[in-house]
Amino acid sequence: MTQLEQPQTSETAFVPLEKIVSLCKRRGFVYPNSEIYGGVSGVYDFGPLGVELRNNIRRYWWWSMVQTQDNVVGIEGAILTHPRVWEASGHVENFVDRLVECKTCKKRFRVDHLPPENLEQRKCPNDGGELMEPRTFNLLMETYLGVVEDDRVKTYLRGEACQNIYLDFLNVVKSSRMKVPFGICQIGKAFRNEVTPGNFLFRQREFEQWDLQFFVHPSEMQQWFDYWKQRRFEWYRGLINHKDRLRLREHGPDELAHYARQAFDIEYQTILGWQEWEGVHWRQDWDLSRHSQYSGEDLSYVDEVTKERYIPWIVETSGGVDRTFLYLLLDAYEEQPDPQGKSGETRTVLHLHPMLAPVKVAVFPLKRNNEELVTLARGIYERLRRLMVAQYDDTGSIGRLYRRQDEIGTPYCVTVDFQSLEDQTVTVRDRDTMTQVRVAIQELPAYLLERVTWQ
Ligand code: ATP
Repeated sequence: MTQLEQPQTSETAFVPLEKIVSLCKRRGFVYPNSEIYGGVSGVYDFGPLGVELRNNIRRYWWWSMVQTQDNVVGIEGAILTHPRVWEASGHVENFVDRLVECKTCKKRFRVDHLPPENLEQRKCPNDGGELMEPRTFNLLMETYLGVVEDDRVKTYLRGEACQNIYLDFLNVVKSSRMKVPFGICQIGKAFRNEVTPGNFLFRQREFEQWDLQFFVHPSEMQQWFDYWKQRRFEWYRGLINHKDRLRLREHGPDELAHYARQAFDIEYQTILGWQEWEGVHWRQDWDLSRHSQYSGEDLSYVDEVTKERYIPWIVETSGGVDRTFLYLLLDAYEEQPDPQGKSGETRTVLHLHPMLAPVKVAVFPLKRNNEELVTLARGIYERLRRLMVAQYDDTGSIGRLYRRQDEIGTPYCVTVDFQSLEDQTVTVRDRDTMTQVRVAIQELPAYLLERVTWQ
């Protein structure tokens, strides 16, 4: 995959979240859920452009992690599972957040997010008011299976997507030709009653995760852990403009799960500070052992060659689709002087990787009241839309149409002008450099496909 060049300098100020929230609403990327009823905190809907971007992000992950890997397969598990799953996983007992509330401003804070001095002095970081005693909340969302009151069984909407992978581990081994070392991937919804949802898509109550669980022989754990840590880091690095805002942070001893020898967060720096994008975890034999113990089913694996029976150890890489969506927008957003506009005018541009951009190409006739230009432009658009997401627009001056497309990250704009009628070429304008080249109409599909698809 081509790496994104860095069009912005790293000194560029961080983009305020409000700019992204406003762009997302205005241009149809993301809407607040149930807005006409006042909204639901931490829940969002994706609009026409948002769903395209989201699908591209998902598909690219799947392509990189499953489709082009010999030793990885995918599954899609259900959101509902047997309630015992969440006892085995430890979520019923331990999936909790500790929360404090300020007596005066009523703001709530997660104890693990409070600066230590505020916690010690029980002092609110917002208005200095007194903080109440911490309270504990379980994040699992409860639901019920069955309709008859006495037969209803309490279960949970999955708090993390990866549990299905452990549950289906033996099914995959038996039904495919996968042999350890191998991985299972999944993209799917997860639900958490976050006590402090907020920062737009950053912390939601319904969100989507992508997971790889890679099963290895214990003796090979370290080498696979190092491999996936580096691979996932490079994967994110290839998608962003501000390369220096990505880092790997190793967990300190106090953050590590008791079974983990190491853990890393892939973090990205935004106006919210350095925050997790994806976790790379050393899960050892914890998950398969726990599910063996709680279900009574032996989830061990037998090596066909050596005949050794063992519980495979697991390297996990777990990231968020929505957080990726948000970080890519924050990374891509830029307001810059518009060299083609009147003095003092700015253009807003999303420098999204062309393969992820929701619309790949927009086609305009130079004059909307010229029938020949319109017919030719419409014909080109009809041809292109079968190959990629394309838009046709003739509702403004060309400069205005360019700006409209820049704002949603469309990498290429095609203009049909009078020369097109004579020599069957069009101008193709590049979003980032704003340079224009003439391309033969016949060659346009190949020219664009080469630049907007991954291979
Ligand atoms: P945090 O410490 O921020 O609560 P976590 O360590 O609990 O996150 P994981 O359980 O490891 O997160 O989830 C894996 C990934 O899922 C995270 O890296 C993040 O990208 C995404 N994610 C987790 N919680 C949320 C949420 N509430 N909203 C959106 N994405 C989330």
